[in-house]
Amino acid sequence: MDKLLSGKAIAHNILEHDLIPRVEKLIGQGITPKLVVLLIGNDTASESYVRQKEKAALEVGIEIEILRFSENVEEGEIFRTIEKLNGDDSVHGFFVQFPVPRHLSREKITASIDPQKDVDGLSAQNLGELFQGKSTLQCCTPKGILTLLEHESVEIAGKHAVVIGRSNNVGKPVATLLLQKNATVTVCHSHTNNLEKYTQQADILVVAVGKPEFLHGDSIKEGCIVIDVGIHHLKNGKICGDVHFESASKKASKITPVPGGVGPMTVVSLMENTIQVAENRI
Ligand code: NAP
Repeated sequence: MDKLLSGKAIAHNILEHDLIPRVEKLIGQGITPKLVVLLIGNDTASESYVRQKEKAALEVGIEIEILRFSENVEEGEIFRTIEKLNGDDSVHGFFVQFPVPRHLSREKITASIDPQKDVDGLSAQNLGELFQGKSTLQCCTPKGILTLLEHESVEIAGKHAVVIGRSNNVGKPVATLLLQKNATVTVCHSHTNNLEKYTQQADILVVAVGKPEFLHGDSIKEGCIVIDVGIHHLKNGKICGDVHFESASKKASKITPVPGGVGPMTVVSLMENTIQVAENRI
């Protein structure tokens, strides 16, 4: 299906033609980029995301270390580890795989990571710089979505982009990046009245709601470009997104599949950020 926006294929292309040569150059200069992951608890989805990141890092030549912590780990142990990683010159970037167990604060963890090593791009400094339009460590999913649209030569300027979801890691930053590319942007959320009024107007629709098959094809206009950020592992073993793919793909001019759409673009952005930190050090 040529309307399919295959993040998997684009990510592979970027890995092969951009990231691998950049890592080879760094290694030639005596620097091997190193990424560390803090994985807390036994969340199956998190385990699977970390495996995908590990696979990509190994493919591209980034050294990766996974630090595992039990579900009941004390907050102090996490902060001591973060402090150590902040001060370790051999580590270029690190991140905590979210979600974390309820007794840990996502905000406090994010705030304790050195923004120069915050390859997830979620610190206040990096998010602030993203909002100012500076070239910085951008959060991975929004950056991946923009890269995907650029690779597919999707015209963004002048288009009406509708984003459903306003989280700090997806909805708000992706809306900002689309605005910086001169789209007219509408951000919808759980208090939006008559959501369909907005989705029907969208030339580009980004769905980051966190609800399986939330958006049906009836709610979009013919020719819309649909970016499905959601990812859900269903009890029957299937994986689906926030969009009802079968109905939406009949009306969309381009659509991301789940899996194989936004997910691989998020991973490739993480690799790019890690390489960027290593390059910036030179
Ligand atoms: P989140 O923090 O839970 O945010 C969900 C957003 O959806 C909120 O802003 C919420 O509005 C809005 N929402 C909920 N119900 C709604 C409704 N009925 N109508 C309109 N808006 C509604 O989730 P997230 O972190 O942004 O992630 C969203 C999805 O993307 C999840 O499935 C997540 O697993 C997935 N994800 C995928 C990747 C990837 O690489 N593929 C990366 C990150 C996240 P309020 O603000 O009003 O509550």
